[in-house]
Amino acid sequence: MRVLITGGAGFIGSHLAEAHLARGDRVQILDDLSTGAIANLDALRANPRLGITIASFTKENVLPEMVDRADRIYHLAAAVGVRLIVESPVHTIETNVNGTERVLKLALKKRRPVFLASTSEVYGKASKVPFSEEDDLVLGPTSKNRWSYAASKMLDEFLGLAYWRERGLPVVIGRLFNTVGPRQVGHYGMVVPRLVSQALHGKSLTVYGDGRQSRCFGYVGDVVGGIMALMDEPQAYGEVFNIGNHEEISILALAEKIRKAVDPRLKIVKVPYAKAYGPGFEDMRRRIPDLRKIRRAVGYRPSHGIDDILAKVIAHMRMEMTAGL
Ligand code: UDP
Repeated sequence: MRVLITGGAGFIGSHLAEAHLARGDRVQILDDLSTGAIANLDALRANPRLGITIASFTKENVLPEMVDRADRIYHLAAAVGVRLIVESPVHTIETNVNGTERVLKLALKKRRPVFLASTSEVYGKASKVPFSEEDDLVLGPTSKNRWSYAASKMLDEFLGLAYWRERGLPVVIGRLFNTVGPRQVGHYGMVVPRLVSQALHGKSLTVYGDGRQSRCFGYVGDVVGGIMALMDEPQAYGEVFNIGNHEEISILALAEKIRKAVDPRLKIVKVPYAKAYGPGFEDMRRRIPDLRKIRRAVGYRPSHGIDDILAKVIAHMRMEMTAGL
């Protein structure tokens, strides 16, 4: 099978590429390296079944040809990370909306199945947990940049579903919950690599707000397995699925675990949201996926708990530090 992964040099994309190569497929990656990194593909680059094109999927003319040659498309290229989104809303909205529109239009020519990477962020401030795919989505006002990401991804979802219903394009939508694992970087705000890196550098761990907000962290290997299983299952076309893990942990408890694992003498400091993200920032308190739908569809069961995940992330970051990366 020939697979196209937009955003394939990103954290999740590179793991997806690895998994497809491992099962004998050909993988083409399109990435502009805006948040991805070629180093994410270091272990794969020698594989003759991997092709890498460094270009922006919104501007360059490489996309039509790449889509034409693919049997299946994973559209992961997007502006991601709360910090980036808060700082660059124009880039976020344009990349996320225009990119998806282009990919869907091109995929329609040969009716190639498309996976659209959406996000748990679309549940916004909904307070009924766990979040299930048919629940209402509750966003904050347009004056708060953070919500532009959720709104852009909601539009992607609407467009994907419309292409399926109106035009018969096989589209699967995955709402990815907090996904973590080796190769994720903290530059764009993601809490696990940020805190692990702080700890490994002997710095205090920064917990935003009161630290009682919680998340569920899914291991990237589990998430990628779920994404591939959905694309292998024609019954999943035209459907939206939560993907992640439902084990909940507060950010303070997460910081405690990381401190204990790396150096119990380190301090944990609380940083007000306004200082971390600028004034008027809104966070969500709890975010837990209802995973029944994906379990029914493809038997998905996350196999890595938080301790296991942290051990893997810490080992990987330590190895990178030792190697001077
Ligand atoms: N967070 C934190 N310290 C950091 C980075 C993030 O306490 O250095 C918090 C953040 O405010 C949020 C949670 O950790 O409540 C998860 O943040 P992340 O950006 O990883 O993902 P989100 O779930 O917000 O998309």
